[in-house]
Amino acid sequence: MATQILQPFSAMMDAANQDGVTNFIVNSSYRSDTAQQQLFDTMGADLALPAGYSEHNVGLSVDIGSTTGKMEGSEEAAWLERHAARYGFILRYPPNKSHITGIQHEPWHFRYVGLPHSEIITKNDWTLEEYLSHLQQEKSITTRTQGRAYKVLYYDLQESLQIPVPTTHSYKVSGDNRGGLIVTIMQ
Ligand SMILES: [Zn+2]
Repeated sequence: MATQILQPFSAMMDAANQDGVTNFIVNSSYRSDTAQQQLFDTMGADLALPAGYSEHNVGLSVDIGSTTGKMEGSEEAAWLERHAARYGFILRYPPNKSHITGIQHEPWHFRYVGLPHSEIITKNDWTLEEYLSHLQQEKSITTRTQGRAYKVLYYDLQESLQIPVPTTHSYKVSGDNRGGLIVTIMQ
């Protein structure tokens, strides 16, 4: 797991435990190599995903199972379905979306995208692909989640080489693996 997801991941597990949902098993390893690590360090990115690599290579994905049996239909899966977005995670390959993701339903595979992205994706019942397409089309969206206002900007790198960033607000820049750059501004 990448260090940036350790804190939200353990906060999520703590919350589940407090709700009495405790039978989680984590089957994920951070399969790193130098190039991916470099990209990851450079982008520091919620959405940085080098083309052609497994999501696990960038350390932003985690496979979560249930020790009670199959993940699908388990109490653990149900809890995550309801709460994961709050902690910045999404079910990366949901059912009935394999025509969009290209991957069959994986009830165990969660991906960290951070806030507010996880909340937007989950609220709209989107996949990451659908969200990125939406961003690419809208160029700028504003949203409010967990009492905080965000502005998300999308830049097509083919069009703009200069990215204005705010000096008065905290912001984060991520690549989207399709020639775009996402700037997330906390307002
Ligand atoms: Zn996985």
